Amino acid sequence: MPTIGIIGGGQLGLMIAEQARILGAKTICLDPTPDSPAFNISDERIIASFDDEKALENLCRRSDVVTYEFENVPGKILVSLEKHIKQGVRPLLDSQDRIREKNNAREHGLTPANFVEVNDADSLIEGIKKIGYPCIFKTRTLGYDGHGQVVLKSDGDLEKVATYLPVPAILEEFIPFDFEVSIVMVSDGETIINFPIGKNIHTGGILDLCIVPAPINESLKTKIETISKEFMRRCGYKGILTIEFFVKGDEIYFNEMAPRPHNSGHYTIEGCNTNQFMELCRFLLDMPLQEPKLLAPTIMKNILGQDLTSAEQIATENIPSTYVHIYGKTVSKPKRKMGHITFVGMEIEEFDKKMTNKFY
Ligand code: AMP
Repeated sequence: MPTIGIIGGGQLGLMIAEQARILGAKTICLDPTPDSPAFNISDERIIASFDDEKALENLCRRSDVVTYEFENVPGKILVSLEKHIKQGVRPLLDSQDRIREKNNAREHGLTPANFVEVNDADSLIEGIKKIGYPCIFKTRTLGYDGHGQVVLKSDGDLEKVATYLPVPAILEEFIPFDFEVSIVMVSDGETIINFPIGKNIHTGGILDLCIVPAPINESLKTKIETISKEFMRRCGYKGILTIEFFVKGDEIYFNEMAPRPHNSGHYTIEGCNTNQFMELCRFLLDMPLQEPKLLAPTIMKNILGQDLTSAEQIATENIPSTYVHIYGKTVSKPKRKMGHITFVGMEIEEFDKKMTNKFY
């Protein structure tokens, strides 16, 4: 029985471990937090910090193949362990720094919003002259769920950025997009499969709903699929990759990418004939990839701490084709991702009518 090593024990690690088990593989998971969700199901655990080189070596030694579900592992440590990491370290390095990420996207056929590098107050002022208002300031590294970001509409907003400076950052043109979409792909180096494109709705910078299929016409759908696969191919990436885009009319702007399973792909577990975690495991275990198909229109609702009680209530109601996932985190806090619910066979109008009022 092969063993998959997973760097990171959050809900993504948990769901990778679940699918690995279905395929007959064992898992060993590394995370600094003793009560990490994935530890409830992984066969073995290593409690260690993500910059503990010895612990990461230990994980690699005990695994047949290693993957990462946490993006902020120091890339430099992983470089020396790269032979164990089937996906390679480059996609991770390319995604860890927003400037590198956007330059890489541009070099390989995608269009990010205009951006400039910012490091201090002077370069911020210069940057604003080039980009103009409105614009958005983001720290270059370690940003997630809207953390480290400020929207600037006028000089009056500059003081909001002052608390971050001096810091390596990026200043981006603000795109008044119609909506956001994401695409999850898995490549074995030859075949690239993609899951159906979903529309993402964020609340307070955190993903709230994923609506699948996204309301885009056939030509836009084909365009997004084609440029995304071409990007993956040209970059020489293998394994799993999610790309988030802003859609404005017929224009598509690259926002960011993640070389790991993605929150917007959770709907695939019940909404498709195969799911993002399963296909990642199939790649890791040298099994042929399966072409994903949407079984029915599907909505994924993230469950943050403030919605946990409602989600537990919905779980008791036994609503057909409604799948409540609770990640088993021991501490629940507002804005912390505690679970998600997938509604298969439901469209947004029905969701708004029957479900929206059950949540904060
Ligand atoms: P990010 O961490 O880069 O994904 O940004 C978090 C959220 O901020 C995105 O999902 C968008 O809703 C919003 N956002 C980020 N960049 C831009 C932009 N250039 N223009 C408009 N909205 C943005």
